[in-house]
Amino acid sequence: MNSEEYYKQERSAQWRADLRSKKKNKERTDTPRVKMPEAPADERRHSYVEVNSGLSEAQALREASRCIDCPNPTCVTGCPVEINIPKFVKNIERGNFLEAAHVLKETSTLPAVCGRVCPQEKQCEAHCFYTIKLNKPAVAIGYLERFAADFEQQSGSVSIPEVGPANGVKVAVIGSGPSGLAFAGDMAKRGYDVTVFEALHEIGGVLKYGIPEFRLPNRVVDVEINSLKTMGVQFETNFIVGKTATIDELRTEGFKGFFVSSGAGLPRFMNIPGENLVGILSSNEYLTRVNLMGAFKNGMDTPVVKGKHVAVIGGGNTAMDSVRTALRLGAERAVIIYRRSLEEMPARVEEIKHAKEEGVDFLMLHNPIEYIGDEKGRVKQIRLQKMELGEPDASGRRSPVAVEGSEYIIDADTVVVSVGVSPNPLIPQSQPDLKVSRWGTLEVNPDTLQTSIPDLFAGGDIVRGGATVILAMGDGRKAAKSMNEYLMNR
Ligand code: FAD
Ligand code: SF4
Repeated sequence: MNSEEYYKQERSAQWRADLRSKKKNKERTDTPRVKMPEAPADERRHSYVEVNSGLSEAQALREASRCIDCPNPTCVTGCPVEINIPKFVKNIERGNFLEAAHVLKETSTLPAVCGRVCPQEKQCEAHCFYTIKLNKPAVAIGYLERFAADFEQQSGSVSIPEVGPANGVKVAVIGSGPSGLAFAGDMAKRGYDVTVFEALHEIGGVLKYGIPEFRLPNRVVDVEINSLKTMGVQFETNFIVGKTATIDELRTEGFKGFFVSSGAGLPRFMNIPGENLVGILSSNEYLTRVNLMGAFKNGMDTPVVKGKHVAVIGGGNTAMDSVRTALRLGAERAVIIYRRSLEEMPARVEEIKHAKEEGVDFLMLHNPIEYIGDEKGRVKQIRLQKMELGEPDASGRRSPVAVEGSEYIIDADTVVVSVGVSPNPLIPQSQPDLKVSRWGTLEVNPDTLQTSIPDLFAGGDIVRGGATVILAMGDGRKAAKSMNEYLMNR
């Protein structure tokens, strides 16, 4: 029986009825949502221990029993990679944890990662029956995803997706972030000879150099990468496409299709007076030094500024990761400075909660307008301006408006600027025929993700600007499908 037939049988009316009859819906919907166990805030603020500890088996079984296995599971429509959510959740309810992990892997290359970092509150959980009809907290789909994926990783029997017969066609992936990894997995499943080229010495993109260990341990990412290696995907690190070799050169080596997933790793600054002072750096540099180069560990050569009064400018996940990293590096005061209010903050709700618990200060409706240095050219103060909210802008959020005459100065010996990123320009620069938007993102056909160069497809942050892990993965899967059709037709 293939997995499609198995799925049909499992989802039969009888199967559903059997499962439902075990527990009344009222009992399910009256069960309160589980709380994620966490390391205590006063301990974790100085350590790299993972903050969320994961559900116990008992907690997972109980939470899974809240799902009423809707005939029309709206949660799935909120998932960019269309995980069969009720199927994996019901497998957990029945105690079939490995089978639950198997279901996740049918559509997701990185379930242990997504279970930790996806904004489920805006995606699947926002579309859960509990949220839209019952006005109750959604089934904790993200916590359950992490539970099943971790269970499989810890069981020692990690299932490797089936790989089709080798077709001998070479395809190249440029960049090893979530988009590139998802693409590589799907193409390997179809029998392609896949090589991922990565500029850095580590595989994983932002998952390794951006998101800190206390949110996403590297060992978790490595298990998922090892599965891809077992599937036959090859990785070339320290290889900058456009410099080490151009796409044209790779074509002459026999590569028939290219997926550009080179991300948006170029930090933006605000171009305000004093921004070049010593002690002011981008969140990309700050986090890369700590996460990728191990600057927080004793005995490592990589230096990193360990400020006492650290200000982080911005309100996204990157800002939250930076400010919490500052605490772990020994800051006495770590403050978020954000020009809108808490409601407009793009960071995940959980990250804001964790940051507050750890003692981060939040200075809302404030904007830096100048940095002031000491006689050695080191930042010592920030001139701030108060803001108020005006009319909604293009993003739908109310835009910040400066309050005249409200300026004042605060002390800061380190400033981390986290006000957004731009796409990496190297690939567009080395391919003049590639159509690029005015923001520097690659232009693609939205249905196929094909660029203006027929054998080049693109997805993730290089197309969207800074977005999310799951959207990047969804693009990787979509591009794999389209490139397969393109290559088959040739
Ligand atoms: P990336 O992950 O950026 O990977 C691109 C890779 O391409 C990099 O490894 C880069 O070195 C490589 N590369 C670039 N140019 C070349 C070249 N010429 N040749 C070879 N390799 C090249 N999203 C969430 O969903 N949840 C979160 O909690 C979250 N937190 C985040 C925290 C931080 C600090 C940051 C920076 C981002 C966060 N995001 C989060 C966003 C998310 O990580 C990104 O949207 C996602 O990683 C984009 O994936 P990608 O594959 O497009 O690119
Ligand atoms: Fe279960 Fe919620 Fe999905 Fe319904 S919408 S199947 S309750 S997770």
